[in-house]
Amino acid sequence: MEEKYIIQLKDISKKFDDDVILDNISLNIKDGEFITFLGPSGCGKTTTLRIIAGFLEADSGQVLFEGKDINSLPPHKRQVNTIFQRYQLFPHLNVYENIAFGLRNKKVNGKKLKEKEISKKVKEMLALVNLNGFERRDTALLSGGQQQRVAIARALAVEPRVLLLDEPLAALDLKLRKDMQVELKNIQKRLGITFIFVTHDQQEALSMSDTVVVMNEGKIQQIGSPIDIYNEPKNAFVADFIGESNILDGIMLDDFKAKFSGAVFQCLDKGFKAKESVDIVIRPEDVDVVPVEEGMISGVITSNTFKGVHFEMIVDIQNFKWMIETTDYYPVGTKIGIKIDPDSIHVMKKSKYSGLYGDYSSFSDELEHLSDIEVEEE
Ligand code: ATP
Repeated sequence: MEEKYIIQLKDISKKFDDDVILDNISLNIKDGEFITFLGPSGCGKTTTLRIIAGFLEADSGQVLFEGKDINSLPPHKRQVNTIFQRYQLFPHLNVYENIAFGLRNKKVNGKKLKEKEISKKVKEMLALVNLNGFERRDTALLSGGQQQRVAIARALAVEPRVLLLDEPLAALDLKLRKDMQVELKNIQKRLGITFIFVTHDQQEALSMSDTVVVMNEGKIQQIGSPIDIYNEPKNAFVADFIGESNILDGIMLDDFKAKFSGAVFQCLDKGFKAKESVDIVIRPEDVDVVPVEEGMISGVITSNTFKGVHFEMIVDIQNFKWMIETTDYYPVGTKIGIKIDPDSIHVMKKSKYSGLYGDYSSFSDELEHLSDIEVEEE
């Protein structure tokens, strides 16, 4: 059976002046999912959200709602509502009136809602966001977190099918943000409606979402579950943006055989051209520290920082500065060996982001002689 989507973007492009902001974005969003647009500042997340909301028109492409083109539908006729980073509450209205605002314009079967119905809905919404009894409060006197709860209640009161959230927690302090992340996720689960969330915070995206859409420079880099995105990043950009990564230049000698840092490693990747130049991505927590003689390669620790649960070490290996996380302490200056399991070595096709990350100076000589490299036998 064909999957039902609530929102679909088809080949959406947008330019501001001559700058391409969105470059042919296509995406299917399932009803009831928590989907997050994640990417660095300026990558086009908010622009995408505004196009879905109807505040902005795409230059080309279509927005579909349950299969129907809504390109020409004005924002208030779309079954979506938006929450912004700055809560944008009406300062002259109390909490009750803020939440009631959209309800007063709402018509059911052509009739406006009665005050009793509005009052019931406001109460229900206040309970949902944990603000029971706050009806008469002045919004200006609420804390940031409370104001954002009122904004959430106001947006949900009109029962949108899709809630768009544009960095709604960015203005809150870390502790409050973590609490609100859990609460928002619970609200979404309870209501079962679709949340489209925008953030540049990868932890936030990974912990809250069913699906993460990683964007950069107006293009979708990868769509997947948080676990897929973290464990199987599609390119060096995603690998680096989602968590810390060592990104090294390497060469695929053969199927399952990669060469980097002057050694040959078994890996799980295949299908590359012989001697193809690749990006090798290795997470700092996936490296095992062993005595030098047992290591596949070795290097000297040049810094070591205690991070609470683990130590974060910088280890110079062939002039490349590796980041390695361990729970054991090794003093700076220690020579260590490292081992990496085949499934911890992620081989990726070279992307235009290759070389932007990490220290690859030592390897550039080797790259210059790429064509001379002989396939080594074990
Ligand atoms: P941020 O996290 O910083 O909000 P973002 O990924 O949401 O980033 P957008 O707000 O979508 O990015 O902006 C993408 C690019 O488009 C930016 O370079 C921005 O300056 C530009 N831009 C956005 N709106 C306009 C506009 N109305 N006119 C001109 N340029 C714009």
